[in-house]
Amino acid sequence: MNDQLILIVEDEEKIAAVLQEYLSAAHLRTHRIADGNAVLPWLHSHKPDLILLDLMLPGSDGMSVCREIRKISDVPIIMITARREERDRLAGFDLGVDDYICKPFSPKEVVARVGALLRRSKGETRAAPTTRLVMDRRTYRVSLGDRTVALTALEFGMLDALMGSPGRIFTRDEIMDRIYRDFRIVNDRTIDSHIKKLRRKLGTLGLDESPLRSVYGVGYKFDA
Ligand code: CA
Repeated sequence: MNDQLILIVEDEEKIAAVLQEYLSAAHLRTHRIADGNAVLPWLHSHKPDLILLDLMLPGSDGMSVCREIRKISDVPIIMITARREERDRLAGFDLGVDDYICKPFSPKEVVARVGALLRRSKGETRAAPTTRLVMDRRTYRVSLGDRTVALTALEFGMLDALMGSPGRIFTRDEIMDRIYRDFRIVNDRTIDSHIKKLRRKLGTLGLDESPLRSVYGVGYKFDA
């Protein structure tokens, strides 16, 4: 990820500064906008590789800004929301958002997701289409080439979390935390059985090897 330009739309000075610092350390250029109304005019003369978009903004909110961006561009967008419930609700709308991050977030995780999304969006033309899993957030379906499999919301959430940070090892606790919807009823053992089911379903897509690897004594990771 060399020299790519990330637009940070965030009105909280401290958060924007931390994001800028971490993204710069990852050799990404950044530009910051604090007002929702200033995004579209800026986009008329600049072409960012990815946009981090805060939901609650002065001027237009993140949802409206996102809709406007989508009329003119398919730049990858990561929406930053204040709460998980917000992300959950927003994911139901067809906003054309590529990923969601909830505050408070770890800047490292943001950089990892930005990197993953940049690779994914570049890879769309480079990699053979048959090697890519495509996730449909509205229907919880995952496709590979012309094969599709329906996942439960919980399985989709797990796959989404693991895929969002390829190679990163997630402990069972972290996975539980990500699939907060069923938080109360999930324990270590059910994580394992959900992973098992998820692997089986992904297997029907014709993958040679499951991308979901277990890491003994720790948890799971997504291996692209
Ligand atoms: Ca805000």
